[in-house]
Amino acid sequence: MRRFSSRSSDFLPTEYTNIKPFLPSLPPPPVDSDGYPVGPDVLAALFPSGMIQHEITLEPRVPIPVEVLDAYRVYRPSPLIRAVELERVLETPAHIYYKYEGMNPAGSHKSNTALPQAYFAAKDGITRITTETGAGQWGSALSQACSRFGLDLDVFMVRASFLQKPLRKTFINMHGGRVYASPSDRTKSGRSFLEKDSQHPGSLGIAISEAVEAVLSEQNSCYSLGSVSDAVCLHQSIIGQESILQMEEMGEYPTEIIGCTGGGSNFAGIAFPFMEKMLTGGKHIRFTAVEPTACPTLTEGKLRYDFGDASGLTPKYMMYTLGAGFIPPPIHAGGLRYHGMAPLVSHLVKLGIVNPIAYAQKKTLNAGKEFTRVEGILPAPESTHAVAAAIDSAVEARESGEKKIILFNLSGHGYLDLAAYENG
Ligand SMILES: *Cc1c(COP(=O)(O)O)cnc(C)c1O
Repeated sequence: MRRFSSRSSDFLPTEYTNIKPFLPSLPPPPVDSDGYPVGPDVLAALFPSGMIQHEITLEPRVPIPVEVLDAYRVYRPSPLIRAVELERVLETPAHIYYKYEGMNPAGSHKSNTALPQAYFAAKDGITRITTETGAGQWGSALSQACSRFGLDLDVFMVRASFLQKPLRKTFINMHGGRVYASPSDRTKSGRSFLEKDSQHPGSLGIAISEAVEAVLSEQNSCYSLGSVSDAVCLHQSIIGQESILQMEEMGEYPTEIIGCTGGGSNFAGIAFPFMEKMLTGGKHIRFTAVEPTACPTLTEGKLRYDFGDASGLTPKYMMYTLGAGFIPPPIHAGGLRYHGMAPLVSHLVKLGIVNPIAYAQKKTLNAGKEFTRVEGILPAPESTHAVAAAIDSAVEARESGEKKIILFNLSGHGYLDLAAYENG
């Protein structure tokens, strides 16, 4: 029995795969506050041209720039591992595989999009990027990418996480990035929330408002988004593409694919390339998106147009949302505290192709502890949602006798989140 696929560079894709041309229908386009589709000029004020191209393309295959491929080669292909010990402990007939995205310089899948975003900014002559970060993984990944491509970086970090995870600030500072607890007094949006509550815990929606406002006020700057957008989902497709080849090498094909969902990008990354196969006549796969009960966007939100941020500075997206003003409780899985969801993932839930479920924090952290004990890898608090769902599915297989091949995305490691396990 094989436990690992090889890490040969044969598995490193040279093109991103785009799910859009394979879908029975596309999600409606983003609109402005008056309900008109947003034009390229609105996007051009925020994003580099390469990103806009990736956002709107309907080409099934999109070449990865060589500069980005060189950066990927440092840590890709990422390992695909069979969780043999977990299978044994659970006494399940199911086979459980995980794709491990925590083995890179920043520790999560976020580097897969941070690198092309920094590259496209540098290519357009931009010198500074502004962004938000929840738990700090996105800020970490982007700081490393900005340092590689020679860019300045300003990060607005959700205050609840800023206080819970001070080492993330150290990490970002070490790569030359600047970090501000959000809401901050540096922007109008930030000040308006601080006036209401000087100790405001913040939210991703507020931090996005601050980062967008900060970019519109300065020349040669662009904004960078860690999840949600079509372009980010496109970049993350390398996860699923590698997984297809690696599962092939193991002689298996998944019957179920599981990912945790904050903005939807790591789930999209592992799921979409397999979904393309399914939609073009391949085997049926069950797709499960796992979110926290504390921020139940897909399971309790509404599918409607809503702003991406708390102050209404971004376009409106057709997505499942809890409302742009929703402030989730400060759970440890800070990366899953977003009021909305990627329009593509939202659309697939609406079409019934993706099944959403919600889990409470205690259950997921316990699953993370069990996984650490038996598999020896400490998952990020976000990723424990996928771990918990994989365990539940494998236990169900023990009862039903169903021959399941489960593949889940272990989106990042939790070595900077040990306090969450200590206090959770
Ligand atoms: C950011 C993050 C998430 C949530 O974001 P998605 O866009 O839904 O993937 C999940 N896991 C980790 C480790 C993260 O850093």
